[in-house]
Amino acid sequence: MENIIKDIDIIAPDEAQACDFKTTVEENTGKSKKIYIESYGCQMNFSDSEIVASIMKENGFDTTSDFEQADVIFLNTCSIREKAEQTVRKRLSQFNTVKKNKPELTIGVLGCMAERLKDKLLEEEKIVDVVVGPDAYRDLPNLVASAEDGNKGVNTFLSREETYADISPVRLNSNGVSAFISIMRGCDNMCSFCVVPFTRGRERSRDPHSIVKEAQDLFEKGYKEVTLLGQNVDSYKWSPEENNKARLNKKEEVVSKVVNFAHLLEMVAKISPQLRVRFSTSHPKDITDEVLYTMKKYDNICKYIHLPVQSGNSRVLELMNRTYDRDWYLDRVKAIREILGEECGISSDMIAGFCTETEEEHQDTLSIMDIVKYDFSYMFFYSERPGTLAAKKFEDDIPLDVKKRRLAEIIEKQASLSMERNKLDVGKIQEILIEGTSKRSEEQLKGRNSANKVVIIPNNGLKAGDYATVKITDCSSATLFGEVVS
Ligand code: SAM
Ligand code: SF4
Repeated sequence: MENIIKDIDIIAPDEAQACDFKTTVEENTGKSKKIYIESYGCQMNFSDSEIVASIMKENGFDTTSDFEQADVIFLNTCSIREKAEQTVRKRLSQFNTVKKNKPELTIGVLGCMAERLKDKLLEEEKIVDVVVGPDAYRDLPNLVASAEDGNKGVNTFLSREETYADISPVRLNSNGVSAFISIMRGCDNMCSFCVVPFTRGRERSRDPHSIVKEAQDLFEKGYKEVTLLGQNVDSYKWSPEENNKARLNKKEEVVSKVVNFAHLLEMVAKISPQLRVRFSTSHPKDITDEVLYTMKKYDNICKYIHLPVQSGNSRVLELMNRTYDRDWYLDRVKAIREILGEECGISSDMIAGFCTETEEEHQDTLSIMDIVKYDFSYMFFYSERPGTLAAKKFEDDIPLDVKKRRLAEIIEKQASLSMERNKLDVGKIQEILIEGTSKRSEEQLKGRNSANKVVIIPNNGLKAGDYATVKITDCSSATLFGEVVS
């Protein structure tokens, strides 16, 4: 999955490593106040910041890229690993000086860390004025106004229905070609290592008509690619009467209709053959053949699946409460290969050194990588998170140096697999979507193929948003190189 999490525990190809956070851009539409938002963590968080920017714009704020010019600073935070929270705390201490020189400045902490720590955050971080969880962003203008009058505020209410379906996100840091659309919120899985169900609440699916409308609007503005986002997109399930997954499952017989993920994919794919459709993340227990056949049916649905395995060992998977085992996972990969072929990109997330993991079990992770041959992976060592099932039930007993050594072995394996997979592309003719000039040189253009791999070609005057048919001539483990053939 593109740019999913960015802290130092992650190793990912291409620009996913390039920056730790994203910020708002400079915009002057004559509004009286300025807001600066810094967003950490996963793509869901970056999408949430676009919703926050939209809400604040409606309430008298322009965005700025310079925090020194801001009246309000928001940090949209991540709790997934300890490192992510430490980064935010460090950043808050840097903002201390800014606030000393400008006491009227309002500082807010949003997102998962806000939800996890609630009013404790106000006690621990004195410069923070507002603490707002992922489901309470509509309350931000009130809380900020109240903070301007000297009252600190916290809203970490977790909703069972909120999807912000009616809010049109302000695109931040966009290349004008690809955009992310949030299709659901929360997560009903209880992976034992994961804090997300506690910070993002119960799973809800967004009205498919509002999703199609957002994608259509983007296409009309010149965007050529949308990525449908959710913690577990294959579990998407919506009915006009009920959007909460758990409740909908109980009354499926009485609702007028149900839209599942395969239906939604088809609805978005039909907007135009010129609009590419991607999605992330797929949970191995939920991805269905129906979804794979829908991908096959539409050329504009990109042939790429982020299918995190976490571990290649069935006992560890059970401790992780992933609800599938090694054989189930390999069966899903077999279905992908049978229905979509060898060229379909598959990527993964891996956790090294989960509680009680033995050397043999770690070897199972390396061996499953060899079998699946991932195109790339996001790789982490286990970081215990307070309140999770694993923190309550298991001892975090693998020493840090062992976790890091196992992670290094996983990373080394992935580097050689990425090279092996990329070499298979050399000599092939592929369609790419141009995203702009390459970071290295204006003389080169950067595009992406269907399998989500970056392809660099000589700059022949094509523009961002153009499609090109290229022949792949060379590769590294992270990048393909090609030339235009038509
Ligand atoms: N919903 C997605 C799924 O189930 O595949 C994953 C979302 S999570 C935000 C992204 C990744 O972070 C996970 O797949 C996992 O590999 C990693 N992760 C989550 N909790 C972690 C922890 N406590 N320590 C290390 N890595 C963790
Ligand atoms: Fe976390 Fe598991 Fe939900 Fe992914 S599926 S967000 S890893 S609980």
